[in-house]
Amino acid sequence: NPARFTRVDATTWRLEPHGAMQVPAVIYADEGLLRAMDDKVGEQLANVASLPGIVDAAYALPDAHWGYGFPIGGVAAFDATAAGVISAGGVGFDISCGVRTMLTDLGSEEIEPLKESLADALLATVPAGLGGKGGIRLDETELDAMLLGGAVWAVARGWGEPEDLIRIEEGGRMAGAEPAAVSAAAKRRQRAEMGTLGSGNHYLEVQAVAEILDPATAEGFGLERGRIVVTIHCGSRGLGHQIGTDYLREMALAAEPAGIALPDRELACARIASELGQRYLGAMRAGINCALANREIIGQLARQVFTRLFGSGGRLRLLFDVSHNTCKLERHRCADGVERELHVHRKGATRALGPGDPSLPEALRPWGQPVLIGGSMGTGSWVLAGCERGRAFASAVHGAGRSLSRHQALRQWNGRQIVDELASHGILVRSHSLRGVAEEAPGAYKDVDAVVAAAEAAGLARRVARLRPVICIKG
Ligand code: 5GP
Ligand code: MN
Ligand code: MN
Repeated sequence: NPARFTRVDATTWRLEPHGAMQVPAVIYADEGLLRAMDDKVGEQLANVASLPGIVDAAYALPDAHWGYGFPIGGVAAFDATAAGVISAGGVGFDISCGVRTMLTDLGSEEIEPLKESLADALLATVPAGLGGKGGIRLDETELDAMLLGGAVWAVARGWGEPEDLIRIEEGGRMAGAEPAAVSAAAKRRQRAEMGTLGSGNHYLEVQAVAEILDPATAEGFGLERGRIVVTIHCGSRGLGHQIGTDYLREMALAAEPAGIALPDRELACARIASELGQRYLGAMRAGINCALANREIIGQLARQVFTRLFGSGGRLRLLFDVSHNTCKLERHRCADGVERELHVHRKGATRALGPGDPSLPEALRPWGQPVLIGGSMGTGSWVLAGCERGRAFASAVHGAGRSLSRHQALRQWNGRQIVDELASHGILVRSHSLRGVAEEAPGAYKDVDAVVAAAEAAGLARRVARLRPVICIKG
């Protein structure tokens, strides 16, 4: 577990700056989660705290585990005006990977008789799996239009509903995208991948609202006990991954000549104000639009299946769509009381705006932003809401977080056995890859109930409702 961190309170652990560290490193977790956390999270966090222009602290959230350079489940903000940096590794390879949850008027008993056909229809309609063929093909012009337009583009092409847009971050379209900053290789990889789920950890899940913890907020969100919802987790596919790869390489080469001392090569970054920093921002924002468009299209495919099987009762209404691998320019009041423009990196971390935030749609504003959290295909998932004065630049956990690597999971579980075991509990798992199922075994993840309880105790977000899995289409 992360050594040298000292306890501040029941859910806050802190490492004071020393050596190259500019700011402290802070981990939010309860004692059990901290004890089980990889020591590398602490090391990586201390390295992140050493980067130029970092503000307040480098944060890890209760779901944190080690990742490429930056921990997954980590937040770091850099001053936009001072010598701050932007890092491709601080965003993650699957740019704007995220989650959307859509509401139905169906009760869980209504889908029971059609469960098998629903699972088969979803698997047949939503392209999934590595390489994910069968998506929408785009020519060069349309691809650039998608990179500029995000979900707004998808809706204009008929692959979404206009009323979805206000319930997507940024209104469905990230401003400042620069398709020209995205390599030809990245674009080539995306030609036939729009509207595909991708591999392993990505999923489309039919879930039932199992438990309500905050009745007022649940009502505001439209969540009712026993109702069916559909949750989609995926990102920017091959395009985002190639942008990450391209810029990581470029940033690694450019850092030293730019006078940036990297505590770890994997923390490759560029000054925000530099040509490279600006170019990455433009490319990353194009990647965000790709993910927003992708989730909108997949949402539309799910709609087709639900209305075919359930008629108007199967109408899907978007609760919210939120990303958890991004860097966004936001205004925050810093620890010294001064408000600043910051580039907030959230890698495996969800933005969690509090009640009253003007950027939330009116219908959600009294309650705060829905924070959508995956657990595992076998255990459950959660809907939380942002807190009044959020921590870590208004961020919250993004999932249970892995406790075992994919490799370790493969050694421990067999995909077929997991599918059968879950089926005996009434959970239908459909996947093109049994290997993927084994890698994503419920036992390879932390206890999501413990993670969200710690997130609430730490003041990151409030628990609203627990969801139980009914059907899981795995990438
Ligand atoms: P990541 O974006 O880091 O790959 O995954 C986010 C979170 O999704 C993970 O931390 C994990 O808790 C959760 N997750 C992974 N697979 C599944 C699944 O099949 N169903 C649900 N509900 N959650 C999952
Ligand atoms: Mn992803
Ligand atoms: Mn993700």
